[in-house]
Parts: sequence; C-alpha cells; structure tokens
Amino acid sequence: MDPRLTDEQEAFAASVRDFAKQHVEPGIVERDHAGTWDGEVWKRVADFGLAGLPIPEEYGGSGADVLTTGLALEALAYGGRDAGLNLSLGAHLTIGAMPIALNGTDEQKQRWLPRMAAGETVGAFAITEPEAGSDTAGMKTRAEQHGDTWVLNGSKTFITNGELADVVTVIARTDPEAPAGQAFTAFLVETDSTGFEVAGSLKKLGNRTSPTNELAFTDVEVHESQILGDVGTALWKVGFECFDWERCCMIASAVGGMSRDLDESVRYAKEREAFGKPIGRYGAIQHKIAQMRIRLEAARLLQRQAAWLKDNGLEHQTEASIAKAYVGEAAVESSLDAIQLHGGWGYIDEFHVERSLRDAKLATIGGGTTEIQELIISRSLLG
Ligand SMILES: Cc1cc2nc3c(=O)[nH]c(=O)nc-3n(C[C@H](O)[C@H](O)[C@H](O)COP(=O)(O)OP(=O)(O)OC[C@H]3O[C@@H](n4cnc5c(N)ncnc54)[C@H](O)[C@@H]3O)c2cc1C
Repeated sequence: MDPRLTDEQEAFAASVRDFAKQHVEPGIVERDHAGTWDGEVWKRVADFGLAGLPIPEEYGGSGADVLTTGLALEALAYGGRDAGLNLSLGAHLTIGAMPIALNGTDEQKQRWLPRMAAGETVGAFAITEPEAGSDTAGMKTRAEQHGDTWVLNGSKTFITNGELADVVTVIARTDPEAPAGQAFTAFLVETDSTGFEVAGSLKKLGNRTSPTNELAFTDVEVHESQILGDVGTALWKVGFECFDWERCCMIASAVGGMSRDLDESVRYAKEREAFGKPIGRYGAIQHKIAQMRIRLEAARLLQRQAAWLKDNGLEHQTEASIAKAYVGEAAVESSLDAIQLHGGWGYIDEFHVERSLRDAKLATIGGGTTEIQELIISRSLLG
C-alpha cells in the first residue's frame, strides 16, 4: 500500500474541502445550538455529488471505492466542521445505501439507489434496540411470516436519519429458535407503512445536526419481495457488511475533524501571546501540537489501510477494528488538547473546538464501541 494520495485523489479531496468551507461551515455554530437537521445544507452536499459516492454508476452513483469515499468524508469534515452532517451522510452512504447495493435484487436497487444517489431520500439502517446494542444477537424485534407477507413488531433506537428516510433496512428475528447466524433477516421497511412510527427524536451531546430516532413497529406488513438478502442470514451478512463499512470508511469523518483542529490549533499557537511571546514557543504547547500531529498521522494511516485492504478484497477485520478503536480514542484526546491549547476560548463555542470534543466522543461508541473493537482484536490474538 502506498500511503501517498495520487494527484487526482488530492485534487478531489481539495475540491470537497473548498466546497465544504464555502457551503457547509457557515452557520454551523447556530445549527449546533438549534440541534436541527438542515435540509438546505444536505441539498448542497447532494448537488455537489456526495450523496451517491459508493453507489454503483448504473444506479446513479459514482461507484467510488472505500478509500475515495473515506477521502470525501474526511475532506467534508475538515472543511465543513459539521460532524452531524458527516454522520448523516456517512450513515446514508455506508449503512443506508451500501446494504442495498450489496444485497439487493435488481428491482430493489432500481427502486431505491437512484433516489439515494440524488439525495432525494436519506438512507437509514436499524439494528440497535433499547436492550440490544453491542449484543446484537439479543435483538427482540420479531418478524413472522403469513403467506407472502412478514409482520414486524418491536422497536429500534439510536437510528441515524430515521425521521428522514423513506426506507429503513430493519433487522428482525425471523426464527426464535435458530442460532444467531440463521435467526435474523433484513427487511426494507417503507416508512409510510401502516404501523411504522418515528417514536422519538433523541437529544445528544454532539453531532446535533443529525437526527437520531427511536422507531416503533406495530404489525407492520412487509411483502417478501422487500427482504434484503437471504432469510436468516442478516446478522453475519448485512449487519457485518454495515459494521465493516462503518469501521473502514465512516471513521474518516473523525480524522477530518482531527485534522482541522490541528490546523486551527497551530494557527492559534502562533497568534496568541502570553508572557510576551506566542504560546507556540512554550514546550508544553509544542508537546500538544506534536501529539496531535502524531495521532492524526496514525489515525489517517490506520483508516486508509483498512479502506485499502477492503478495496483490495484482503482480510481486514482486525485492521478495521484497530482503526476504529484508535481513531475514536485519538479524536477525543486531540479535541481535549485543542481545547486546552485555546485556554478559556477553547471552552467557548465560537472557537469550535468545544464542539469537536462533543462530536468526537461518538466515534468511541457508534458502529461498535472501543471495548467491542478491543474484544475483536484480542480474540484475533488469543482465540
Ligand atoms: C448518535 C448515535 C447514532 C447511532 N446510529 C445508529 C444507527 O444508525 N443504527 C443503529 O442500528 N445503531 C446506531 N447507533 C447505536 C450504536 O451502534 C450503539 O449505541 C453501540 O453499538 C453501543 O450499543 P449500546 O448503546 O446498546 O451499548 P451497550 O452494548 O449496552 O454497552 C454499554 C457499555 O458496555 C460495554 N460492553 C458491552 N458489551 C461488552 C463486552 N462484551 N465486553 C466489554 N465491554 C462491553 C460497551 O463497550 C459500553 O461501554 C447509534 C448510536 C448513537 C449514540
């Protein structure tokens, strides 16, 4: 793997950064305060071509690989500083559209992917339940077969974009007795179905411009033609692919945030004076800047390595977990350094870095917590 980007990749990332600085960053402090999704900003992102990045070209997307999709997320996070937008776009691409692109019938792909690629609907994926997050096999949402129709009952929580989506990929238990690998099935549930309800909108520490919803299913009827993939295999197939995309690609958003915080911190360290000289001349500040750079380089390389391995069809489960665990924890540490380096201003929202801390924390939880990644890594060594 060559860690350098090609000229074409560099130019692409630069164009996304420029776009985001111009069309996403303005107003982010206010949007964060309001805690609301901004459809106008989403439309700009879609019109710029980011809503269909990894979706195959025949279904209206760009057919971008994992590395390129990650580059776009990193650049969008750097330029836009709107982590909630990145969360919604990342979820739309990696766990909204890709499960359909990878497992859908041609009819399912024709129906949903062109609209997703154009940003006309926002993708969502629902596996987590109030009593089952890390322990996915503990899901209780049930789907029972009645002829050619399945009837869903249960609830999901923490669902990114739930209130925006026209269709949600929902994982439900279809066999109460079978082992996890044969017990769960993925359904494309249309959100105008009778019995489907957005039961709540959760207020969050960070990523506030992305909606996070509770979903309820009461006798929701889903035709068998809306099953995604094969009956019984959803946990290890559809679910695993989603987690894999999140770990190899979506974490690039956190890398972009770290990168922007470092640049802003360097600028501040050169400008801000204390005791007659710029604070960047003091060893304690130099140490923070150096550590932020070290973490950034390591985080970026680990994310790109995982993406490259995935793009090349090579074994990468452990590398993806290493990347996910490291990027999340490093993003939190670096945002703390950025706040400290900005002194009192670091605690005030107009300097953005206090938001970085609130936003970064999600990277240690969503898509599998740091502890779960450590479990996967240790199992690869200890069995
Ligand atoms: C903003 C946000 C957006 C999200 N978006 C989505 C989405 O779009 N779709 C979706 O399905 N889900 C989504 N999630 C859910 C997310 O993936 C889960 O919150 C996460 O997997 C953790 O599950 P949990 O919250 O149930 O925590 P729990 O599983 O209850 O974990 C609680 C604590 O116990 C630890 N723990 C659990 N098991 C073990 C173990 N075996 N060993 C060691 N430690 C352990 C965890 O690491 C954690 O620290 C989102 C969450 C958030 C906060």
